[in-house]
Amino acid sequence: MNANPRLSGRHYPVAVIGGGQAGLSVSHALRQRGVEHAVIEAHRVGHEWRERRWDSFCLVTPNWQCRLPGFPYQGDDPDGFMVRDEIVRYLEDYVAFFQPPLVEGVSVTRLRRAPQGTYELATTAGDFTADQVVVATGPYHTPSVPAMAQRLPEGIEQFHSSGYRSPDQLPDGAVLVVGTGQSGCQIAEDLHLAGRQVHLAVGSAPRVARFYRGRDCVAWLDDMGHYAKAIDEFDDAGAVRMRVNHYVTGRDGGRDIDLRAFAGDGMRLYGRLTAISDEQLEFADDLKVNLDRADSVAEGIKDAIDAHITARGIDAPSEPRYVPVWAPDEQPRALDLAEAGITCVVWSTGFRRDHRWIETPVFDGRGYPMHWRGATNVPGLYFLGLPWQYSWGSGRFEAVGRDAEFLADHIDASRRLADVCGALTGAPSALAAALPIG
Ligand SMILES: Cc1cc2nc3c(=O)[nH]c(=O)nc-3n(C[C@H](O)[C@H](O)[C@H](O)COP(=O)(O)OP(=O)(O)OC[C@H]3O[C@@H](n4cnc5c(N)ncnc54)[C@H](O)[C@@H]3O)c2cc1C
Repeated sequence: MNANPRLSGRHYPVAVIGGGQAGLSVSHALRQRGVEHAVIEAHRVGHEWRERRWDSFCLVTPNWQCRLPGFPYQGDDPDGFMVRDEIVRYLEDYVAFFQPPLVEGVSVTRLRRAPQGTYELATTAGDFTADQVVVATGPYHTPSVPAMAQRLPEGIEQFHSSGYRSPDQLPDGAVLVVGTGQSGCQIAEDLHLAGRQVHLAVGSAPRVARFYRGRDCVAWLDDMGHYAKAIDEFDDAGAVRMRVNHYVTGRDGGRDIDLRAFAGDGMRLYGRLTAISDEQLEFADDLKVNLDRADSVAEGIKDAIDAHITARGIDAPSEPRYVPVWAPDEQPRALDLAEAGITCVVWSTGFRRDHRWIETPVFDGRGYPMHWRGATNVPGLYFLGLPWQYSWGSGRFEAVGRDAEFLADHIDASRRLADVCGALTGAPSALAAALPIG
């Protein structure tokens, strides 16, 4: 271990763990409030975007939603969708803009609370302490691949979506893509456009149209207050937080992802993959229902937009509704890998959280941190960047900044209280974290 003099043996009022958009956002907000802190990033700023997205990747959300604190998107295409390298540059420019106290290439390997209330952080570059800690390590840690992947024959190559880069990386032959969240759909399209024979196991993710009645659906939903709605306003907050994202793409200026159109164009669709035995794959009989449900969500969103337009008397062009362009004659339940010429499987099956390095009792039975707006029940410990931490945009560019400002206010108030307590009683500053939030 090479001890880092900026960390080893030091004490900081605040430690921010993670140098993605969340960590940088709270760093900017803390800087604005004059709160001394350090941001510890295991790799380089923007690591997730650099290393875990494919070559043709672009945002699904429009650029105008990129509004990091003090640094909203300033390019000339607010309605467009930044590609991977532009997103990385946006984050690098943010760093150049306010020069956060960033330590890159250092992982926090253990976080625990000492009896006197300060936090002890063990890192790959030495140990240090902090009064308050923001965990901004992202929502997507470990690629999640179902155990049945082990049953694939040896000659079949396998990738998780986070390891997929481009069609050229895959061996010649047909490809099975498992999963139709945003990644699965976009990777299936990427391969399909490259002329590869794609077999797609379709799950239950919903879809949304890209444009409707003259505007991006995201713009309509923004006007309708959808993105401002707080998690507290839902009766089923736990379920909302686990919801799968709607599939759509920002590629080439943005368009729908219509799996039926892909099928009409030669892609082979199946229901959920349920079993693998030797060369044989088995699928559920839910292809039709999954396609229908995805369409009905997309059409339901259009209904809501229509209602909004009518209620406000907005002058918007009319647009015919979607008519399914393809429907399965039968629901194929089995597929022979060799007969189909499949040489590769791309698992687009999501991620698992891994917070095992956090040794404080903040997690529920599913390993989800218990918090309100990111403040946990353990004084001085915060999370930032969780999906639906407070609203739809919490785990996205759209609202991570708002959540960061909220936490920075609380952290600053705690620190000020600590100073007062310390001046009056000589108590350690960590005492402050007892301040209730809300
Ligand atoms: C495929 C995909 C597409 C997406 N598309 C969009 C989109 O179109 N629009 C949108 O707004 N959002 C999108 N998101 C969601 C979100 O914007 C990203 O997940 C984003 O990377 C989250 O930023 P973050 O800062 O919260 O976390 P991350 O970007 O994951 O950053 C966390 C950082 O913490 C570091 N780290 C982790 N553990 C440690 C440790 N122990 N010690 C030190 N450092 C550590 C990591 O190296 C990483 O750099 C997408 C996500 C995915 C997966």
